[in-house]
Amino acid sequence: MSQTNENGPNKDDLIVVGGAGGFIGGALVRRFHDAGFTRIRALDKKPLPEWYQRTPGVESICLDLRCEENCTKACEGAFEVYNLAADMGGMGFIERFRIECLRSILINTHMIEAAYRAGAQRYFFSSSACAYNTDLQEDPNVRALKESDAYPAMAERGYGWEKLMSEMFCQEYWSQRGMKTAIARFHNVYGPEGTWDGGREKAPAAMCRKVIDAKDRSTGEIEIWGDGTQTRSFMYIDDCTHGIDQIMHCEDLIATPINLGSSELVSINELVDLAEQRGGVKLQRNYKLDAPQGVAGRNSDNTMIKQILGWEPDTPLRDGLAKTYAWIEKQYMDRKAGKRTIS
Ligand code: NAD
Repeated sequence: MSQTNENGPNKDDLIVVGGAGGFIGGALVRRFHDAGFTRIRALDKKPLPEWYQRTPGVESICLDLRCEENCTKACEGAFEVYNLAADMGGMGFIERFRIECLRSILINTHMIEAAYRAGAQRYFFSSSACAYNTDLQEDPNVRALKESDAYPAMAERGYGWEKLMSEMFCQEYWSQRGMKTAIARFHNVYGPEGTWDGGREKAPAAMCRKVIDAKDRSTGEIEIWGDGTQTRSFMYIDDCTHGIDQIMHCEDLIATPINLGSSELVSINELVDLAEQRGGVKLQRNYKLDAPQGVAGRNSDNTMIKQILGWEPDTPLRDGLAKTYAWIEKQYMDRKAGKRTIS
């Protein structure tokens, strides 16, 4: 039997993915399927018709993973478990719905225990750059965040604290019970097949949609949350799924939180420039200063990932955004034509 990774599963071992009806989970399932894995179980609380991607041949089940019994069912026979399920969204969502974000702790708490009881070999948790100390992110000219910057802890209220606590679960299941766990701190992920409208979308998708909408309705204007000087880095989805696979199967990274993000820092204004270039327009920018905007600046320090994996997410934002813009434009036009779309 062949393996994609020296420490990875065989092609007929059961791989379980939570949150598979969403953006990253859906892309991960497709990656494993395309790599030839024959037993994949995909789970999400959304009804199947609402999943962003459904990969043919994959066992896809609608289950609420906040419930312990459902996690037991989900993990039965699992060789590896990937938890990508969380109640989440962009800044607008995580600032407004802190309780919902905190309640995602139920998902990881039950999933990791169920994975352990099922005898899973490895468990993956999708953490976030929101776990980092917010005091270090008050300046747009940020020093990139390195892994040790999560402590002393002052995470994003709600969403960030949930991530930090769930990371600790992963560390203790390794330290006290010997189950191999992997923890990646994602920095803003974007790409086709992601949320692009409805309030949970993140900045790259929102900017593409706003430019497309301004063109379609000939408004000549765009609304930007904050003053546009906030800085971020954005990782393309293919880099994210590749990184998950690498981190999960690296013996040097067991129970060790690691950044998984691009180190190409841009301001929101620069992101708008790129979206406008794709659309071939220049719009009047209206800055909404009282809108949710998160920390002033955030970037990923990739020293550790380069040192350990000899790789870092490297798709240039310009290239990834071009693909994302084209995909959102098609979604926008499909929706206008009354066809089914994912947001
Ligand atoms: P997403 O919202 O597209 O996907 C998450 C999925 O989890 C959704 O389909 C949702 O229905 C599902 N879910 C929520 N509650 C559930 C429950 N109780 N039971 C079963 N399924 C449930 O988000 P995403 O961008 O794919 O994010 C995946 C993971 O990566 C999340 O843990 C998120 O916090 C983390 N993350 C994402 C980003 C990013 O930029 N997208 C950044 C940092 C961390």
